[in-house]
Amino acid sequence: MSPLFDLPASPMIPVLESGQGFPVRRIFCVGRNYAAHAEEMGNEVDREAPFYFTKSASTICLSGTSVPYPPGTRDFHHEMELVVAIAAPAFQVARDDAMAPVFGYAAGLDMTRRDLQQKAKDKRRPWDLGKDFENSAVIGPITPAAQFTPRSQGIAMTCNGVLRQKAHLAEMIWSIPEIVADLSLYYHLGAGDLIYSGTPAGVGPVSPGDVLQGVIDGLEPVEVTIGAPQ
Ligand code: MN
Repeated sequence: MSPLFDLPASPMIPVLESGQGFPVRRIFCVGRNYAAHAEEMGNEVDREAPFYFTKSASTICLSGTSVPYPPGTRDFHHEMELVVAIAAPAFQVARDDAMAPVFGYAAGLDMTRRDLQQKAKDKRRPWDLGKDFENSAVIGPITPAAQFTPRSQGIAMTCNGVLRQKAHLAEMIWSIPEIVADLSLYYHLGAGDLIYSGTPAGVGPVSPGDVLQGVIDGLEPVEVTIGAPQ
């Protein structure tokens, strides 16, 4: 068979100081992984197990670009997150083995159409319209795991230079190895998978022209400008 048409290649994320790119296959996101954020959203923290939603690989938006204000929302929010990049197979791995498939880490923004997410929650519908849309997975360059281990580093985000989110990675309810081990119970994780590990408190709305800058100590920052509505 010959293809009817060509599809775009997988988006690639630059790997720090390597000249190489990390091709993206799938994007998993952890919900409610910081107690203070769960509280600000009026949600209970479930300490039995983490939960997830997904974004399409095509939602990737590289740091240093612009995110158009998306259609269908009047409450476009930022969520600053540590992103884990997987580059080797992991299926039903134990927590002690769960760091082996991790290639590296990046600072990312899980951009969210909060009004659509809230409507979905209220109606007990899936979150896709609120979470999985073009340019909603913003990400900075990947730092290899040899140069960064998540411990209690600071994670923060400013909007136009004003601090919005500030926490420490140690505040995560589910650690990175716990998340990788748990997710691997349900998926054959593998090369090209990204995991957005949840956001601290302080999420809020953005407007066209806003400049968002997110930092995690030890990683490259993530920076985007919010563009005009589409
Ligand atoms: Mn998030």
